[in-house]
Amino acid sequence: MRSILILLATCLVASAAPGDSAGAVLITPTGAHLSVNLIRAECPYTGHTSCTAVDGRTIWLEPRLGSLYRPILVHEEAHALSGQGLVSAAVRARFMQLGGYTGDWYADRGPSLAGDPTSLEELFAEAYSYCGTTPRADYRYDEPFGEYGWDPPRKQRVQTCDAFYRRLR
Ligand SMILES: [Zn+2]
Repeated sequence: MRSILILLATCLVASAAPGDSAGAVLITPTGAHLSVNLIRAECPYTGHTSCTAVDGRTIWLEPRLGSLYRPILVHEEAHALSGQGLVSAAVRARFMQLGGYTGDWYADRGPSLAGDPTSLEELFAEAYSYCGTTPRADYRYDEPFGEYGWDPPRKQRVQTCDAFYRRLR
Protein backbone atom coordinates (compact mmCIF):
# COMPACT_ATOMS: atom_id res chain seq x y z
CA MET A 1 0.00 0.00 0.00
CA ARG A 2 2.82 2.37 0.78
CA SER A 3 4.24 2.22 -2.73
CA ILE A 4 0.84 3.05 -4.13
CA LEU A 5 0.57 5.95 -1.75
CA ILE A 6 3.89 7.32 -2.93
CA LEU A 7 3.21 6.82 -6.60
CA LEU A 8 -0.20 8.39 -6.47
CA ALA A 9 0.38 10.96 -3.79
CA THR A 10 -1.15 13.72 -5.85
CA CYS A 11 -4.67 12.46 -5.87
CA LEU A 12 -5.00 8.95 -4.54
CA VAL A 13 -4.32 8.12 -0.92
CA ALA A 14 -4.21 4.82 0.83
CA SER A 15 -7.18 5.00 3.16
CA ALA A 16 -9.67 7.21 4.85
CA ALA A 17 -8.63 9.27 7.83
CA PRO A 18 -10.83 10.05 10.80
CA GLY A 19 -12.55 13.38 10.65
CA ASP A 20 -15.73 15.09 9.67
CA SER A 21 -17.35 13.42 6.75
CA ALA A 22 -20.71 13.29 5.15
CA GLY A 23 -22.04 10.40 3.14
CA ALA A 24 -23.04 11.59 -0.26
CA VAL A 25 -24.39 10.16 -3.46
CA LEU A 26 -22.83 12.07 -6.32
CA ILE A 27 -24.29 11.95 -9.79
CA THR A 28 -21.38 11.95 -12.17
CA PRO A 29 -21.44 13.52 -15.65
CA THR A 30 -21.95 10.07 -17.11
CA GLY A 31 -24.97 9.46 -14.90
CA ALA A 32 -23.25 7.05 -12.55
CA HIS A 33 -24.44 7.10 -8.95
CA LEU A 34 -21.36 7.32 -6.79
CA SER A 35 -21.66 6.71 -3.05
CA VAL A 36 -18.78 8.37 -1.21
CA ASN A 37 -17.79 10.16 1.95
CA LEU A 38 -17.22 13.72 0.78
CA ILE A 39 -14.97 15.60 3.19
CA ARG A 40 -14.87 19.32 2.52
CA ALA A 41 -11.24 19.93 3.37
CA GLU A 42 -7.87 19.78 1.69
CA CYS A 43 -6.20 16.40 1.39
CA PRO A 44 -4.82 15.47 4.83
CA TYR A 45 -2.06 13.39 3.25
CA THR A 46 -0.66 15.70 0.60
CA GLY A 47 -1.92 19.18 1.45
CA HIS A 48 -3.26 19.43 -2.09
CA THR A 49 -6.71 20.82 -2.78
CA SER A 50 -8.14 17.34 -3.24
CA CYS A 51 -7.54 13.62 -3.19
CA THR A 52 -9.41 10.34 -3.22
CA ALA A 53 -8.83 7.19 -1.19
CA VAL A 54 -7.60 4.24 -3.24
CA ASP A 55 -10.78 2.31 -2.42
CA GLY A 56 -12.83 5.14 -3.93
CA ARG A 57 -14.95 5.55 -0.83
CA THR A 58 -13.69 8.95 0.37
CA ILE A 59 -13.03 12.21 -1.44
CA TRP A 60 -11.38 15.20 0.22
CA LEU A 61 -12.07 18.47 -1.53
CA GLU A 62 -11.20 21.98 -0.44
CA PRO A 63 -14.51 23.83 -0.85
CA ARG A 64 -13.15 27.29 -1.67
CA LEU A 65 -12.13 26.64 -5.25
CA GLY A 66 -14.57 28.89 -7.08
CA SER A 67 -15.04 27.92 -10.70
CA LEU A 68 -12.53 25.09 -10.32
CA TYR A 69 -14.64 23.27 -7.71
CA ARG A 70 -16.71 21.25 -10.16
CA PRO A 71 -13.89 20.27 -12.55
CA ILE A 72 -11.75 19.13 -9.63
CA LEU A 73 -14.69 17.31 -8.05
CA VAL A 74 -15.32 15.44 -11.30
CA HIS A 75 -11.60 14.59 -11.52
CA GLU A 76 -11.87 13.03 -8.06
CA GLU A 77 -15.13 11.30 -9.02
CA ALA A 78 -13.18 9.54 -11.75
CA HIS A 79 -10.74 8.23 -9.13
CA ALA A 80 -13.67 7.16 -6.95
CA LEU A 81 -15.27 5.31 -9.85
CA SER A 82 -11.95 3.58 -10.50
CA GLY A 83 -11.47 2.75 -6.84
CA GLN A 84 -14.95 1.29 -6.56
CA GLY A 85 -14.42 -0.86 -9.64
CA LEU A 86 -16.98 1.02 -11.71
CA VAL A 87 -14.73 1.72 -14.68
CA SER A 88 -14.92 -1.18 -17.08
CA ALA A 89 -11.89 -2.82 -18.61
CA ALA A 90 -13.35 -1.88 -22.00
CA VAL A 91 -13.32 1.82 -21.16
CA ARG A 92 -9.75 1.65 -19.90
CA ALA A 93 -8.67 -0.29 -22.97
CA ARG A 94 -10.35 2.21 -25.28
CA PHE A 95 -8.76 5.15 -23.42
CA MET A 96 -5.34 3.55 -23.80
CA GLN A 97 -5.94 2.66 -27.46
CA LEU A 98 -7.03 6.19 -28.37
CA GLY A 99 -3.98 7.71 -26.65
CA GLY A 100 -1.54 5.07 -27.83
CA TYR A 101 -0.74 4.41 -24.17
CA THR A 102 0.91 1.21 -22.99
CA GLY A 103 2.06 -0.12 -19.65
CA ASP A 104 0.56 -0.44 -16.20
CA TRP A 105 -2.43 1.75 -15.41
CA TYR A 106 -0.95 2.99 -12.13
CA ALA A 107 2.72 3.23 -13.12
CA ASP A 108 4.46 6.58 -12.83
CA ARG A 109 4.92 7.98 -16.33
CA GLY A 110 6.99 10.97 -15.26
CA PRO A 111 6.36 14.25 -13.50
CA SER A 112 3.35 16.44 -14.14
CA LEU A 113 3.75 20.15 -14.78
CA ALA A 114 3.60 20.59 -11.00
CA GLY A 115 6.18 17.86 -10.45
CA ASP A 116 3.74 15.21 -9.25
CA PRO A 117 3.73 11.63 -10.55
CA THR A 118 1.63 11.12 -13.64
CA SER A 119 -0.11 7.81 -14.29
CA LEU A 120 -2.73 6.65 -16.75
CA GLU A 121 -5.16 6.86 -13.83
CA GLU A 122 -4.42 10.59 -13.55
CA LEU A 123 -4.71 11.11 -17.29
CA PHE A 124 -8.01 9.22 -17.21
CA ALA A 125 -9.30 11.41 -14.36
CA GLU A 126 -8.25 14.53 -16.21
CA ALA A 127 -9.95 13.34 -19.38
CA TYR A 128 -13.10 12.32 -17.53
CA SER A 129 -13.31 15.76 -15.95
CA TYR A 130 -12.67 17.41 -19.29
CA CYS A 131 -15.43 15.41 -20.95
CA GLY A 132 -17.85 16.07 -18.12
CA THR A 133 -17.29 19.77 -17.57
CA THR A 134 -16.28 21.41 -20.84
CA PRO A 135 -18.88 22.59 -23.30
CA ARG A 136 -17.27 21.46 -26.53
CA ALA A 137 -14.61 19.04 -27.66
CA ASP A 138 -12.58 21.85 -29.19
CA TYR A 139 -12.40 23.68 -25.90
CA ARG A 140 -8.79 23.97 -24.74
CA TYR A 141 -8.35 23.99 -21.04
CA ASP A 142 -5.81 25.45 -18.69
CA GLU A 143 -4.65 24.48 -15.23
CA PRO A 144 -5.45 22.47 -13.28
CA PHE A 145 -6.73 20.17 -16.02
CA GLY A 146 -3.54 20.50 -17.95
CA GLU A 147 -1.38 19.58 -15.01
CA TYR A 148 -1.03 15.96 -16.10
CA GLY A 149 -0.65 16.81 -19.74
CA TRP A 150 -3.80 15.24 -21.15
CA ASP A 151 -4.19 17.59 -24.08
CA PRO A 152 -4.61 15.40 -27.15
CA PRO A 153 -5.69 16.32 -30.67
CA ARG A 154 -9.36 17.14 -31.15
CA LYS A 155 -10.23 13.79 -32.74
CA GLN A 156 -8.85 11.90 -29.75
CA ARG A 157 -10.70 14.14 -27.33
CA VAL A 158 -13.99 13.56 -29.15
CA GLN A 159 -13.47 9.80 -29.32
CA THR A 160 -12.44 9.61 -25.67
CA CYS A 161 -15.50 11.52 -24.51
CA ASP A 162 -17.68 9.31 -26.70
CA ALA A 163 -16.18 6.22 -25.05
CA PHE A 164 -16.84 7.57 -21.56
CA TYR A 165 -20.43 8.55 -22.20
CA ARG A 166 -21.35 5.36 -23.93
CA ARG A 167 -19.67 2.90 -21.64
CA LEU A 168 -18.74 4.39 -18.29
CA ARG A 169 -21.47 3.38 -15.87
ZN1 LIG B 1 -6.05 12.83 -9.67
